[in-house]
Amino acid sequence: MYRECVFCGRDERLDQMMIEICDLSVSTLYLNKEQTYFGRCVVVLKDHQRELFQLSEETRTKFMNDIVLVAGAIEKAFQPDRINYGCYGDYMPHLHFHVVPKYKDGEAWGFPFELNGKQIFLNDEQYMGMIEKLMKYMEFTPVS
Ligand SMILES: [Zn+2]
Repeated sequence: MYRECVFCGRDERLDQMMIEICDLSVSTLYLNKEQTYFGRCVVVLKDHQRELFQLSEETRTKFMNDIVLVAGAIEKAFQPDRINYGCYGDYMPHLHFHVVPKYKDGEAWGFPFELNGKQIFLNDEQYMGMIEKLMKYMEFTPVS
């Protein structure tokens, strides 16, 4: 846990960017407030780790399974034409994946999605509606 880390701190800096949806096996799911790519989410590893290769095989597998679970729910909830995955974090060296639905008639189709391109924000009611829809399609498996 690093106080200066936005994901570890979970303070107002994070609240400005994302809405926490739920905990997954080794990560936390957030809805990105910027919604140029409708349904855009972020899956953040709970532990402060910088690189995938630094994770144990067990944690890495669980992390990937969490991402897959989210992508499956996004597919069902928002019916995108493709889902893009982004793991960058030059300035946020705490492992997190952007799970970004892409639409053929939408922004940046055929190109990498822009992390901070257009700034499309919705209202709280719309965010809650999206979260509700997403949760309906989250197929949780019991943690053994
Ligand atoms: Zn951190």
